[in-house]
Amino acid sequence: MAEEWKEQLKNSVNTVEDLEKIVNLTDDERKALTSLKTRWGATPYYASLMDKDDPNCPVRRQIIPSMEETKNVYGMDEYLVWKENRAVGEKRPDSIARQYKDRVAFTVIEVCGIYCRHCFRKEVVVSQNLKLRFDVDEGIEWIRQHEEVRDILITGGDPFLLSDEKLDYIIKSLQDIEHVEMIRFGTRLPVVLPHRITEGLKKVLSRYHRVPIWINTQVNHPKELTEEVRKAVFKLLKCGVNVGNQAVLLKGINDDVETFRELHQKLLRWRIRPYYVFYCEPAPGIDHFRTPVLKGAELIRDAIRGHTTGLAQPMYVIATNIGKIPLMPDYYIQGSDEEYFYLRNYKGEETKIPNMPE
Ligand SMILES: *Cc1c(COP(=O)(O)O)cnc(C)c1O
Ligand code: SF4
Repeated sequence: MAEEWKEQLKNSVNTVEDLEKIVNLTDDERKALTSLKTRWGATPYYASLMDKDDPNCPVRRQIIPSMEETKNVYGMDEYLVWKENRAVGEKRPDSIARQYKDRVAFTVIEVCGIYCRHCFRKEVVVSQNLKLRFDVDEGIEWIRQHEEVRDILITGGDPFLLSDEKLDYIIKSLQDIEHVEMIRFGTRLPVVLPHRITEGLKKVLSRYHRVPIWINTQVNHPKELTEEVRKAVFKLLKCGVNVGNQAVLLKGINDDVETFRELHQKLLRWRIRPYYVFYCEPAPGIDHFRTPVLKGAELIRDAIRGHTTGLAQPMYVIATNIGKIPLMPDYYIQGSDEEYFYLRNYKGEETKIPNMPE
């Protein structure tokens, strides 16, 4: 019998009939499913986390298309060409996106375990308007020729959908390049298909030791942190792989103080270190998920800093064409004079320390 993760993928929930066995569809959902030309779907495991009757269920909203996707006021056309600097600067393979000198994003696949409705790479992954060629060997060769690149972020799509053999090949090839000092994977599979963390994959991830492997996954709501996910993360850690989280700030899903705090505390309980919370990017068709820009900074101020350990604190960033820009709350700096630096804590209490000159 095929491995369970492959069975899950073969049985992906991607027809109206499949969905109707799990949830009671609303008129809007039904209309979107039958009239929008969009790739959608989820693993049976992840789909089973949907609430049967609540269309606002945080898992359901990430899976089922909505007519809201046709309303586009703030989304930018050709978003990825702008964001990934595809029309400007040095010539690079399609698989290499570059915003920094020492690190690149290396896209190795354009399919995913679930097709997130809020995905900012929609043009490649979901609608597929943007046709790119993701040739792994071409990308590896480019990295080999760029000695200043020391940190490779392997992304997609979802790179963990590649076979064990292919992942082994990519990791081995990269770690054989002397100037590569770390490898990172961006993958949602530990969350949407925890079955993927098989004995075979564990062997691949523990095989090479010259460079560390980091994984960043994407959990947006505490409901996604199940017992299965907890076990999958523990297996990854036992391979010597670090696991972090990159959440997306999503309106009505995780943009309230209670959910935001619970998400970050629960991530730590699951041994996942919160890394980033992303502002929902101005990609087309996702206005309904987007909050005001300052919302993330407010949530860090009101839900995290001081209210729980600093280990639970992600950095809130806006990903742009010129890199990720942090936007953290600054309420704690009250000002300074010749003598003192004035500070405020999360409760509004104030204090001062001597203001030492250079
Ligand atoms: C996000 C990203 C990186 C990695 O950024 P870190 O802040 O180091 O996590 C690198 N290159 C590109 C093109 C990116 O979008
Ligand atoms: S898994 Fe990542 S790339 Fe794939 S649809 Fe979701 S957000 Fe987009």
